[in-house]
Amino acid sequence: MLLSEERAALAEAGRRLAARGLVIGTSGNLSARAGDLVAVTPTGGVIGELTAGQMTVISLADGSVVDGDLAPTSEVPMHLAIYRATGAAAIAHTHATTSTAIGLIADEIPLVHYTMLGLGGAVRVAEYACYGTEQLAEHVVKALEFKQAALLRNHGSIAVGSSLAKAVDNLELCEWAAQTYHQALLASAVTGRPPRELTQSEQEEVIMAALSSGYGTTKKIQADDGDGNGGDGGDTAGDSDAPADGSRQ
Ligand SMILES: [Zn+2]
Repeated sequence: MLLSEERAALAEAGRRLAARGLVIGTSGNLSARAGDLVAVTPTGGVIGELTAGQMTVISLADGSVVDGDLAPTSEVPMHLAIYRATGAAAIAHTHATTSTAIGLIADEIPLVHYTMLGLGGAVRVAEYACYGTEQLAEHVVKALEFKQAALLRNHGSIAVGSSLAKAVDNLELCEWAAQTYHQALLASAVTGRPPRELTQSEQEEVIMAALSSGYGTTKKIQADDGDGNGGDGGDTAGDSDAPADGSRQ
């Protein structure tokens, strides 16, 4: 079976997204690239129940089916356009509720939390076009420029990554950011106070801190260095379960 590892990873990612409530039934599609080939979910499949053997392998060059029994996702044009335009190794797309909702009423999720730096900062909304079209593919590629995630107007969200697990991480972070922003908008309607965004210098400070501390990775507590606090690594380890980070992109 061609791309057996990638196909198994697609099945695993589908189960994970379904368990987190980010994908309902047959909505959404996933893909993973390996050289000139792309493993994709089939059209009409229930994402959370697909097996590796039900995935389809297509050619990156023209989208033709190279291996598999089922017709590939209707969003092949979007997946191929993203691979051609970026260095992404994998793509995850679903109709996650809050991401879809924010795409109806805003042009972006502003940079309201430092972990969004892992997505490239504010998340843009791609202009609407019918699913499965080259026009939608074009809008999404534009919205993803220098970003790891984007919202699709009247449709859903999408994320890319250096692996399928990372693309799913990014999609989950995007949905979490959408939920947080949504809550802030509701509170804002009551208080009249707009959600605060991070300033440029605050963003730079976070990036420098993440680079120097290895943010998002677990680390052993260092041996007592004489000042009684057990070293300087312990205060950042608690952030290791954050939804994503900016240091591993
Ligand atoms: Zn869709």
